[in-house]
This record gives sequence, C-alpha cells and structure tokens, in this order.
Amino acid sequence: PFANSSMDGYAVRAADALPGFDLNVIGDIPAGSFPAFVVGAGQAARIMTGAPLPAGADAVVPVENTESADRQMMAASVPATIRVTSPVSAGDYVRPVGEDIEAGQVVLRARRRLRAPDLGVLAGLGRAQVAVISRPRVAILSTGDELLAIDQPLTPGKIRDMNGYALAALCESLGARVLRLGIARDTEADVADKLQQAVQAGVDLILSSAGVSVGAYDVVKAVVESMGALSFWKVNVRPGKPLAFGQVRGIPFMGLPGNPVSALVTFDVFARPAICTLAGRDWQSGLAEALTVEPIRSDARRTYMRVTIERRDGLLYARPTINQSSGVLTSLVSADGLLIVPENAGEIPAGTRLSVRLFSE
Ligand code: AMP
Ligand code: MG
Repeated sequence: PFANSSMDGYAVRAADALPGFDLNVIGDIPAGSFPAFVVGAGQAARIMTGAPLPAGADAVVPVENTESADRQMMAASVPATIRVTSPVSAGDYVRPVGEDIEAGQVVLRARRRLRAPDLGVLAGLGRAQVAVISRPRVAILSTGDELLAIDQPLTPGKIRDMNGYALAALCESLGARVLRLGIARDTEADVADKLQQAVQAGVDLILSSAGVSVGAYDVVKAVVESMGALSFWKVNVRPGKPLAFGQVRGIPFMGLPGNPVSALVTFDVFARPAICTLAGRDWQSGLAEALTVEPIRSDARRTYMRVTIERRDGLLYARPTINQSSGVLTSLVSADGLLIVPENAGEIPAGTRLSVRLFSE
C-alpha cells in the first residue's frame, strides 16, 4: 500500500548520493513506522526493509553499498553521516506502491480452487470472509453380517471391511469430508439406525456398500424406501450392476454394490461425478484414449475393465489385468485405469482405440 525499501540501508535523493561525499543522516525509519520528515538536499535517512520511503527520497542505498558495509547496523546508534561507495539511480531498491496488487486489480476469479498463496493474498487484502463452495460431507456405511472392523481378529465366515476404508479415501481425495458410519448388520433396524445418524448429521450425500442385490438379507433398498425413495436400481454396467440410487429424508443416497471392485468402480463412474459437482470441481479429468493390446469381447453391458497402461511413442496401450473378478481387489491395486468397453460392441480386435479413465494423470 506504500512505496517501501527492499533493503536495509539509507533512503537518499539519487542525484545527491555521489560516491565520496558525506550525506547527513536526519532520521531512522524502522519497518512499521511512518516518517514525518522530508529528506532534503545532501541528506539521507536510515531505513529498514519494508519501511515507507520518506518524502524527498527517491532511492535506497543498501548498507552494503556504504562505507559502513562491514558493520551490522545497531538500533540505538544511527550514524551522523554516511558515504555511498557506488553511484545511485532513482528508483533503486524502492518497491513502488501497488507493485504486487494495484487498486482495482482482479486477483482471484470465481470457481478457482483456493491454493496456499491465494489465502495469503486474501489475508493481505483483509478478506477474512469470502464466498466459497464448502467441502461436501459424505456419510459412508458398510453393510453385511460378515464384516468385521479393521482391528478385529478374523473368525470363521467373517472378513474385514475393505470398502469403508477405500471409499472414505476416495471421498477425501476429492475434497469431501467423510462421516464414517461403520458397519451395519443385515437387518432393517440396524441399517435404518445408521442412515438416521447420517440424516441427523446433515450430510450432503450418503454412500453405502453391499446389501442392494437380490439376496435374502439384502435389506438396504427396503430401508431406503421406508425412509425416502428409490429413484432407480440396477445399471447396465460391469462390474456393479445392482447399484441403487434414491434419497433418505431428502438426502441423496447411493447404494453401491458390495463386491469391493464393484463398489470402487461404481464409485468412480457414479459417485465421483456427484461429489465433484457438489464440491464445484471438474470431474471429467483423467479421460484419455488407449489402444487395446488384445482382442476383447463386449456383451450387452458396458464394461469398465481394469487395465495396466503402457506409454509408447506418445500412445497409450491398455492391457486387461489378469483377474477381472469383482471380488479381487488387488486387481485394482495393480491397475492404472479403467478401459471403457462399450455395450453391444461384439468382438473388439486388438489395436482398437477406446476411452480409458486413468487413475492418475
Ligand atoms: P452383497 O452385495 O451384500 O451380496 O455383497 C457382495 C460381496 O461383497 C460379498 O462377497 C460380501 O462379502 C462382499 N462385501 C460386502 N461388503 C464388503 C466390504 N465392506 N468389504 C469387503 N467386502 C465386502
Ligand atoms: Mg451382503
């Protein structure tokens, strides 16, 4: 907001600061002070970095360029005179008013994701409050009588909850805040109780996994219908056909399938765009084209095929991971992306160009 010194030294009139001539030091300007005096002909004022340039002065001579170059300046003892050791030009070591931000300048545009320097600029402008799209809150529920928490020893018939952790990590990677609801048993009462917790917390989206298929103990859809409504059930994709969507007491609800690969793939295809939209983010990133390296058969469902990607001569080559079972989560660990194999395409020969969703750019 004011012209200031970029060095510790002496504010001078450049035309007077000739090597070999004494300048009378008439005052001291620490950072944070504002000089009331004027620097006249043959005069100088001691000045610190960030201190306002006094009236009359048009340049700063760093202490290194004075005859006291070898001495550390002392607060209490301002020298009576100084002598510069090299010629000075007007504007030297002066940061003009508005150098960083001019009055009326646009510094940040709407819909930008704020980064650390942006927050510094806002602070500099005294903007303690700005209008933002807040991070969406997503509740995550795992369902299933077979599920154990991560710290439980395995007992016969049980497995540990994988989906809850993986889905929470995905949500957080998109900037969402996660409410972990833990594990619900396969009973309507338990699922309803957990969903009610999400309602009470006022989340923006509820994501569950498992319990939405055609099994005798798949109770999630019934609970959603009793607390809200289902909009659709089943999507024409592989993996992840039994996905359910609706609302619970007015909060959007997505019931992802239970098989871990199905849960994570349907998250990527359906939940990720929803969360990105809530968060004001672009969700279409990571889409590219790749060439298939082996023949692929397509059926009536659109397949999101786990692939590893190789880059050669600027082209991407997609190779299906060995195991495409929806229960084999390590196949997703080794995959670089999802090859989007269109429905009803029949035999797709090697060398075909298809869309691919890359997990990292
Ligand atoms: P469901 O849709 O409930 O029939 O579950 C399908 C499959 O996914 C079953 O083999 C479940 O054991 C498995 N599954 C469900 N939830 C989880 C989870 N949170 N972590 C790991 N596997 C799960
Ligand atoms: Mg189940």
